[in-house]
Amino acid sequence: MFLSCVCEADGRLNTGHAGVLLAERRGSYPLIDLRILKTSAQQGEVETVTRRKVKRLLSFQRYCHASRLLRGLVPHTPRSLHLLDDDYLGQAAHMLSKVGTWNFDIFLFDRLTNGNSLVTLMCHLFNVYDLIHHFQLDMVKLNRFLGMVQEDYHSQNPYHNAVHAADVTQAMYCYLREPKLAEHLSPLDIFLGLMAAAAHDVDHPGVNQPFLIKTRHHLASLYQNTSVLESHHWRSTVGMLRESGLLSHLPADMSRDIEQRLGSLILATDINRQNEFLMTFREHLDNQDLDLQLASHRHFILQIALKCADICNPCRVWELSRQWSERVCEEFYRQGDLEKKFDLEISPLCNQQSDSVPAIQIGFISYIVEPLFEEWHRFTEPSLLSQTMLDHLHKNKANWSSLRCAHTPSDVQGRSQAEEPEGEVGEGADIP
Ligand SMILES: [Zn+2]
Repeated sequence: MFLSCVCEADGRLNTGHAGVLLAERRGSYPLIDLRILKTSAQQGEVETVTRRKVKRLLSFQRYCHASRLLRGLVPHTPRSLHLLDDDYLGQAAHMLSKVGTWNFDIFLFDRLTNGNSLVTLMCHLFNVYDLIHHFQLDMVKLNRFLGMVQEDYHSQNPYHNAVHAADVTQAMYCYLREPKLAEHLSPLDIFLGLMAAAAHDVDHPGVNQPFLIKTRHHLASLYQNTSVLESHHWRSTVGMLRESGLLSHLPADMSRDIEQRLGSLILATDINRQNEFLMTFREHLDNQDLDLQLASHRHFILQIALKCADICNPCRVWELSRQWSERVCEEFYRQGDLEKKFDLEISPLCNQQSDSVPAIQIGFISYIVEPLFEEWHRFTEPSLLSQTMLDHLHKNKANWSSLRCAHTPSDVQGRSQAEEPEGEVGEGADIP
């Protein structure tokens, strides 16, 4: 009996390599916070989330109007019935005209699009690259797919939500435009890069893999404790691709190839595989043997670009970078609170009493971000963007160092700020 179960699990995972891919149903993961948090405060939070979802649904209808507006299909007249929306969307459209600038304020963009930053950004970038025409995509199916992806991010997560996905997508767009890379990319490379960025954390539960393993979550056993979250993000994306029928008009082997390559990109974001990718990247740069005429080498660079986009927060301008840092630490601390509540050992970085935001950020920058971005700088050289990112990185690290000296862990003030980020950063077009 035991053997047959193991074989079945193996079979399901291995069929992916044989070309028949397991797709997860939408909403197939039981919400951890709903299952174990029953306090009235949190029930209120759930109601708020539902209200927010309804609001988003309504704003999605407005988005359909907006997308026509952005494509110039609807004249923008003062007699429009959507005066307020048009005002906001006018500002959003203005921001989109500078979407390739590194200090693009995704928080502001999300507010201007009423929580639809991911859908709006993706539609815009698909238009910029003419991907809809190139792949003969059906606009209704595309909107349905992107709407599903955005909805399946959890807005109650302080960090792993649709705004993070939009932020990673915007960073990915900046990297795709790097002169070293841009001239070699095919429409399929660009399509995959943007799709993987948009969906790379979809349905993230707001806790990490060790938490899922120690609480014996069904996803941990489904994916045998390896790349659990990343596998779930990928398989959920495949499920949504199939449900929306976005690729149903393409030859079967092409859509299968797209699904597999999306998986390879999303799985590369597993932070446990950081060294593996970094060493290979460094080796290629030392040997100067990257040939971007080769599809396999371009795919590897797309993996690296997505990894950079995923962890680029410390390379942003301080006002934006600080907000992301507070958000990610808030998510860690919430996991730590859960672990404490259920008598589980508190995971590293998740103890608000001993792990301060500055200390977490300095470690993250030193061991994860700096080594990768130094190599990315070598690859893209000469690149004004890479230089700008490294400059921000060094300044931000220095800022966290002085904050660590100035504050004890109990002074950490991230929690309230993380929920309602303050301040807006101007769009300034001086940085690439
Ligand atoms: Zn991510």
